[in-house]
Order: sequence, then C-alpha cells, then structure tokens
Amino acid sequence: MEMWIATGNEGKLKEIKQVLVAQIPEISLHHQNELKAFTPRPEDGKTYLDNARIKAKTLKSVRDKDWVLGDDTGLEVFGLGNLPGIHSARYAGTHASDSENTAKLLKMMTIRSVSDRKARFFCCLVIYTPDNQEWVFEAELTGTIGKLPQGTHGFGYDSVFIPDGETKSLAELGPGYKLTHSHRTLALRKFLERLKS
Ligand code: IMP
Repeated sequence: MEMWIATGNEGKLKEIKQVLVAQIPEISLHHQNELKAFTPRPEDGKTYLDNARIKAKTLKSVRDKDWVLGDDTGLEVFGLGNLPGIHSARYAGTHASDSENTAKLLKMMTIRSVSDRKARFFCCLVIYTPDNQEWVFEAELTGTIGKLPQGTHGFGYDSVFIPDGETKSLAELGPGYKLTHSHRTLALRKFLERLKS
C-alpha cells in the first residue's frame, strides 16, 4: 500500500507515520516534500473539511494511483469564540512559528480577560483511495489552555494544551500520550476501521 501524506509539517507527519506503520506494517509512506516540483495550494477554505480536501486533492492530482491523505487541524478556545480555529496555522501571521502562535494565543486570552479556558483540537482527515473515492474522518480532543507554555515534546500548540483528566500539557505528556489519545490518532483509527471493513 503506497500512501502520500499532504503535509510539510514534520510533527504531524511523525504522528501519522507512527499510527499507520504500527497498524499496517506493509505500508509505504511518502510526503509532499519528496516531490521536487510540488507546490501546495493556499488553504483558503472556510472549514476544516475544505482545507483538508484542498491539501489532499492537490497531491492526488499528481499521485492519482496512490492513497493520499490530507489533515487539517485547528485549536478552538471556547472563551475566544472558538478562535483560532481554521486560522490556527496563521494566527500570529502568514509565516508564524509555533512559539509565535502560542504567544499570540496567550496574549489574546489575557487582553480579553478570558476566564473560560476550555478548548478542543479538531482534526479532519480527507483520504483519497486509489480509485478516487473520498473518505472523511473527524475527531476531537478536549482540554483547557494553560497559563504558560510547558514541555518540550510535540509541536504547534501542544505546550499550552492540557487534555481533560490531566494536569500536564501535551508537550509534557510526550509522544506516547498523543499516540494513544490525540485527535489525530482517533481520526486515523476511524480510517483503519474503514479499511478493515
Ligand atoms: P494545519 O492543520 O497544518 O493547518 O495546522 C494548523 C495549526 O495547528 C498549526 O499551527 C499546527 O502547528 C497546529 N497543530 C496541528 N495539529 C496540532 C497538534 O496535534 N497539536 C498542536 N498543534 C497542532
């Protein structure tokens, strides 16, 4: 099974690989940066589904015989009206780093005196089969936003996200936690179930 992952995000790629390789030992995984002439399209959709579809479809157009997976994920903070949501990647600007995005999130929560720190990660996967069927899988991880970034594992907003039932951030809990509990893992499990059915 040949599968191409429509992401240039190393953290995301690592997590997707860990889940899929453990469950499908014969899988051969590739990612868009292996294609020299590949240019991703701007993620200008209005929903996670739109953006996951844009990522997957663009890669499918050049890998039409293979499995292709697109992942669009966002962090929604309830006290900020579900921001940054689909704008999570560019919250602090077009080419913002993870630490700039995280700093902006904490700053906005302070400026707006946000008391409701509840939040969720939402992950939407769009997968194209070799015969071009579109499969969609979604999942969430609920938690709260910490007062300061904590921990060194993971990527993105992991250092400020404390899953429900935990006292540490995802970046402190480490890769083992995300491998079993994350929004991405839960969505990938739905894909694996569909594959078996
Ligand atoms: P995208 O899905 O690649 O567009 O990512 C949206 C934003 O959310 C980026 O800033 C990512 O770094 C961040 N992000 C995506 N998945 C995760 C995650 O599992 N943990 C923390 N941040 C994430």
